[in-house]
Amino acid sequence: MADTHDGIILGGGHNALVLQAYLCKAGLLFFNGLREIDLRVRGFGHHIPALLASPVKAQMSRGGTAALARALESAVREAGGKIRTMVTPARIVVEGGKANGIVTSEGERINARRFVVSALNPHQTFLDLLEDRHVPTDVRDKAASFRYNLIAPLFSLNLNLREAPRYQAAAQYPELERAFMVIMGLDDVAQYPEIIRHHEQGTIPPTVMWGACPTVFDPTQAPAGCHTAFMWEKLPYRLHGDARNWDAEREKHGLAMLELWQKHAPNVEAAVIASFSRSPLDVERCFPNMREGDLLVGAFTNGQIGFHRPFPGAGHYRAHLPGLYLCGSISHPGGNITGLPGYNAAQVVFADLGLKAAWLPKPIQERWP
Ligand SMILES: Cc1cc2nc3c(=O)[nH]c(=O)nc-3n(C[C@H](O)[C@H](O)[C@H](O)COP(=O)(O)OP(=O)(O)OC[C@H]3O[C@@H](n4cnc5c(N)ncnc54)[C@H](O)[C@@H]3O)c2cc1C
Repeated sequence: MADTHDGIILGGGHNALVLQAYLCKAGLLFFNGLREIDLRVRGFGHHIPALLASPVKAQMSRGGTAALARALESAVREAGGKIRTMVTPARIVVEGGKANGIVTSEGERINARRFVVSALNPHQTFLDLLEDRHVPTDVRDKAASFRYNLIAPLFSLNLNLREAPRYQAAAQYPELERAFMVIMGLDDVAQYPEIIRHHEQGTIPPTVMWGACPTVFDPTQAPAGCHTAFMWEKLPYRLHGDARNWDAEREKHGLAMLELWQKHAPNVEAAVIASFSRSPLDVERCFPNMREGDLLVGAFTNGQIGFHRPFPGAGHYRAHLPGLYLCGSISHPGGNITGLPGYNAAQVVFADLGLKAAWLPKPIQERWP
């Protein structure tokens, strides 16, 4: 059986696997971009060596990402918790200076005896859900200034396939058949700054896309013998100055991505059973917290990271009001599916309530010996 690799870069102009130094450089820059690190920001250059040094490799959830959500849901229910979906919060209730619950858009009040934790973005949490009189001016100003990541928005092309993509380059490099991630269209180190320029201008750059065919590794995600595959591309949220332009452009751009895919994997053309595309605007429509299509819910930039995420004074998971806490991507260490913001926020809530968190590992001092 062929080897499995973390990733393989396919040159857009060639049908061969190319590993020249300049392409590796292009790959490293691009990887930082797809991890939403904006290398224009002063003090973020260390992310390139950090990326190389990281022992953490890409992982997938057996059964698809929804399986992870279902597992978490079961854990909550088994612990006696309740999850309500299709509910829109309209207001966080503040009584006696403390966050006491929420009111939904349907007017239902849900009380919180001890705490309210918000994973929604600072605009939603501090400006939309709290009445002005409960938010000091400096907190309102900081929430209003919270910035979203210019290069975060994603366009996705999703396929149902009769067979997995077979890349032409695999004839020479059979390991490509088992590549977890494939990048297409990346030829040159100059492309990354060019992609950023296009994001600033709201235009579509020559396509560089990356993605996977999850069913090669987990056949349970499709009917027997069939496959699912997707490609993502970093594209600007405000297309030609207005995100609504995506509705007219979406299908056309999805087809352009499909053409590039077919160029490298010609069997894809006849293998497609069904397809759909999602623009950065669709991401925001589905997840209003991902404002401007920012799937990490807030730029990783100075003043919004670490102890200062989402903004100075609201780091460490506590908002300005007793009983109100923050978690999710707007908190340290930020977006992606890590579970860490919630894990940390839960510890802060437990500490404030004087509860012992039995699930915590022993303090590092006790483990050193
Ligand atoms: C296309 C795409 C691909 C991604 N791929 C990866 C990946 O491969 N690996 C990875 O680690 N991360 C990936 N991410 C990023 C990851 O999904 C997010 O960073 C992460 O889910 C953010 O977690 P969160 O808890 O902060 O917010 P969310 O997971 O978005 O949870 C917030 C929830 O609140 C709901 N909500 C928001 N506003 C309202 C409202 N007003 N009323 C009611 N409900 C509301 C949202 O619908 C959502 O269900 C991807 C994201 C996208 C969009």
